[in-house]
Amino acid sequence: MFRDMFRSTLLAASRSTAVRALVESAPLSRLVVDRFVAGTGVDQALAVTREILTDRLVTIDHLGEDTTDRARADAAVETYRTLLRRLGDAGLADRAEVSVKLSALGARLPVDAEKIALDGARRICEAADAVGTTVTVDMEDHTTTDATLQAVQDLRLDFPWVGAVLQAYLRRTESDCRNLAVRGSRVRLCKGAYDEPASVAFRDRHEVDRSFVRCLMALMAGAGLPMVATHDPRLIAIARSLGQRHGTAYELQMLYGVRPQAQTRLAAEGERVRIYLPYGTDWFGYFIRRLAERPANTAFFLRSLITG
Ligand code: FAD
Repeated sequence: MFRDMFRSTLLAASRSTAVRALVESAPLSRLVVDRFVAGTGVDQALAVTREILTDRLVTIDHLGEDTTDRARADAAVETYRTLLRRLGDAGLADRAEVSVKLSALGARLPVDAEKIALDGARRICEAADAVGTTVTVDMEDHTTTDATLQAVQDLRLDFPWVGAVLQAYLRRTESDCRNLAVRGSRVRLCKGAYDEPASVAFRDRHEVDRSFVRCLMALMAGAGLPMVATHDPRLIAIARSLGQRHGTAYELQMLYGVRPQAQTRLAAEGERVRIYLPYGTDWFGYFIRRLAERPANTAFFLRSLITG
C-alpha cells in the first residue's frame, strides 16, 4: 500500500518541470545517476558495453522520450544510426543491439506523429541491418500500446528480427503474448514501469507477478524468443524452469546497475544474460522510474542531496 502510493507520487512528480529542474541541478545527482546510466556520450557507452560483453550481451538505449520537437526527433534517429555504425566498426554488433522508444522518434509530435516515428524507426532498423544486429522497440504508457505494437508489426515486414516489449501489469498482455509468440518473434516481457489506472492494469504487485507467470507460460510454449526482463529472483527461477521444461531458448535481461552480482552469477551459470544500457543527457524520466521501483533508491538519493 505504502509502496504503491510512493510509486504513484514519484511518477506523478516526474511530470513536474519544477521537480525536474531541482533534480537536474542538484550537485550530486550525477553521481547517483551514474549507477544507472553509462555516461553521456557514445564513447562512454561503448566503453561500458565492452566491459559487459566479457560475459553478457547488451542492448543500448539512447536516453530520450516524449519529444515534441521535430528537429530533436530527427537528431535521435541520427544518434542511433551513428551508434550502430560505431558498434559495427568496433566489432561489437554481434553481441550488442539497441532499444528504442518511439516517443523519442516523434510519436508524440502534434502532426504526422506515427508516420514520423515509424520512418525514423525504419531508418534505425536499416542501420542495424547493415551491421548485422537487432532493434527492440521499448513499450511506454498504455495509451501507446496499440500504436507501438502496430509499428513493430509494420517494421517486421522488412526486418523480421525487430523485438517487441510487453508489460505484465497490463490486463491485455496475456493475450498479446499468445498473439506474438510466433516463429521468429522476439518478445521482451517486463512488469511495466509506468503509473497505470486499474481499468487497464493490475495494481497489486502479487497480481502483476501472477500475470507475469501466465505471460511467461504463453511465451515459453510459443515459437519465438522470450526475453525475460526482470530482477525478481522468483520469476527468474520460474523462467529458467519453464525454459528447460519446454526446451525453449530464451534470454534473461536486466538493467545496468541493478543486481549486478546476480547478472554475472547467472551468466557464469550458463544463462544468456543481456543488459539494458542507457546513455545520454536526457536521463531524468528513466532515473525517476528507477527510483520509483525501490524506495531505498530514493532514500539514498535524498541523503546524497542533504549530506552533500
Ligand atoms: P521488482 O519487483 O520491481 O524488483 C525485484 C527486485 O529487483 C527488487 O526487490 C530489487 O532487489 C531489484 N530491483 C528492481 N528494480 C530495482 C531498482 N530500480 N533499483 C534497485 N533494485 C531494483 N518497463 C517498461 O514499462 N517498458 C520497457 O520497455 C521496459 N524495458 C525494460 C527492459 C529491461 C531489460 C528491464 C530489465 C526492464 C525494463 N522495464 C521496462 C522496467 C520493468 O518494467 C520494471 O519496472 C523493472 O524491471 C523492475 O521490475 P522487476 O521485474 O525487476 O521487479
